Amino acid sequence: MKIENPNPFQWHFSERASQMQSSFIREILKVTQQPEIISFAGGLPSPATFPVAEMKQAFDKVLSDSAKVALQYGPTDGYLPLRQWIADSLSVNGGRKIVAEQVLMVSGSQQALDLLGKVLIDEGSKVLVETPSYLGALQAFSVYRPEFVSVDTDENGLVPSSLDKVAAGARLLYSLPNFQNPTGRTMSIARRQELVETCARLNLPLVEDDPYGALSYKGDPLPKMVAMNPDGIIYMGSFSKVLTPGIRLGYVVAPLALIRRLELAKQAADLHTSQLTQMVVHEVIKDGFLDRHIPSIRSLYGTQCQCMLDALTEFFPAGVSWTRPEGGMFIWVTLPKHINAMELLEEAIKQKVAFVPGAPFYANEPETNTLRLSFVTVPPERIRTGIATLGKLIAERA
Ligand code: PMP
Repeated sequence: MKIENPNPFQWHFSERASQMQSSFIREILKVTQQPEIISFAGGLPSPATFPVAEMKQAFDKVLSDSAKVALQYGPTDGYLPLRQWIADSLSVNGGRKIVAEQVLMVSGSQQALDLLGKVLIDEGSKVLVETPSYLGALQAFSVYRPEFVSVDTDENGLVPSSLDKVAAGARLLYSLPNFQNPTGRTMSIARRQELVETCARLNLPLVEDDPYGALSYKGDPLPKMVAMNPDGIIYMGSFSKVLTPGIRLGYVVAPLALIRRLELAKQAADLHTSQLTQMVVHEVIKDGFLDRHIPSIRSLYGTQCQCMLDALTEFFPAGVSWTRPEGGMFIWVTLPKHINAMELLEEAIKQKVAFVPGAPFYANEPETNTLRLSFVTVPPERIRTGIATLGKLIAERA
């Protein structure tokens, strides 16, 4: 039997689904994937850093030695040897020990944001975020319809003393201490200590989202806040920027009571993260591979960052300012107040250059004269050409 249905089906979407919006960056990426466009828009790591040979070898080994486990369903909390490796790597000398039971493997740390929203946010719950903040977190939390409160930030990141006036009743504070997406800025050690103390005093759960922490150009990353107070901090890590994002592997570390809830939420979402992927990643990293691999990523990104900073100095007109990141993948540009970055983008795309306007990164009042540049996937010569083009467009409007 064939059902004749000349009319389009009338869906009744949930209120939640009706309010969902596509991430602005994902929309821009569709346009900017054309090869002739010089795109500073993506947040993608450089494919030149992907450890293809090591991954191939590890897949082969895992499938040769342990196929029956690797290809089977696995536990929701994740592959224990990998969770143990993560717990050990976060347990610093002198700090409190983190145990494997506190680690939940997730399908990209983006999933941790969704799970946190599911278990901590009710409609109208207060959620504190940096100004500006990671767009993907705003998008993930938005589904649960919180009231976002933007917390003051300065060139050193979040200002802890501004929390007293907004913390009452808040469900969490979402922070990005290292080479923040989108601004590239980093919190000083003193700031981290002050923030941890302030959150403990205010009984405010602190989320430390840290996908870029290992990518410090100069070497040793700053101390993680989770090591300062594992009882009050929810740490999120990811293999996307130190191995490859295509494997979709991240983790969340939290006090046990919260981990159990997150695990239930994950069970409902996808049962568990690919066991095969977790075993392969463990195989790749278990003997110190990251200590050898990460310096090459730092060096590549550091060189390209410097190339962009030099080009900005050469080509951008007076009245424009930008951050000088010491790691990570992004530079944040502030234009003269009257220049709207969204309008600038339309012109830039006509000239075959793309970036991400800053407005979508703000939970509340957007600063429309800001924009984010990524330098990691564009070779130096094209960085110079692209920044020269942008500089000209800005100068015409300055
Ligand atoms: N947090 C931040 C700050 C990010 O920039 C990203 C990726 N762009 C994520 C989380 C998600 O990363 P993944 O899901 O690939 O681990």
